[in-house]
Amino acid sequence: MRRLNYLSELRSECADGRGHHSVYLTFDDGPNPRCTPDILDVLAEHRVPATFCVIGAYAANEPELIQRMIAEGHEVANHTMTHPDLSRSESGEIQREILWANRVIRMTCPQALLRHMRAPYGSWTEEVLTTAARAGLAALHWSVDPRDWSRPGVDAIVDAVLSSVRPGAIVLLHDGCPPSELAPCTHAGLRDQTVVALARLIPELHSRGFTIRSLPQHH
Ligand SMILES: [Zn+2]
Repeated sequence: MRRLNYLSELRSECADGRGHHSVYLTFDDGPNPRCTPDILDVLAEHRVPATFCVIGAYAANEPELIQRMIAEGHEVANHTMTHPDLSRSESGEIQREILWANRVIRMTCPQALLRHMRAPYGSWTEEVLTTAARAGLAALHWSVDPRDWSRPGVDAIVDAVLSSVRPGAIVLLHDGCPPSELAPCTHAGLRDQTVVALARLIPELHSRGFTIRSLPQHH
């Protein structure tokens, strides 16, 4: 089977003149009124950019958070409207999920430059890639996954990133929780560990010679 063509890391020639190598932070499944502001605060404090792969249905309810992401120099990417597994969806649904989310994000923030899409669960198919490309979106995957959504503990999240990060890495983190996994009265949807881990990871990545950047225009 042909390998699906999506972006999971960038080539390491992205090193700058000082020999610093780039890494890219991405956050999925928001915006979430309880978690996303904390993530944005940590990023602002350290002055580093990130890409937020947002769920359209949440974006529609939290337009201010989308506007804040853009105003603070982050990128917003399409993570579909309702977070289905697109590999199990019919053509019409794939198209609707992607185009509807595009429309909602543009409505909440007309300045948003929509360049990327991330398939829920990283579940790509040729049809998903083609549909995204037709909507003007490049497929964005990841290369470092500390499984922060499973709440393994702050140390485990930090260690998992630091042990596998390399130049050009795209790191997957979460500032929210998909609709299907939202259970009332549990901590499962909380991202407090991610927030604390992020505050430790940024200075640690810097001290190891990495620069955290926005995804480049062309790749
Ligand atoms: Zn997701």
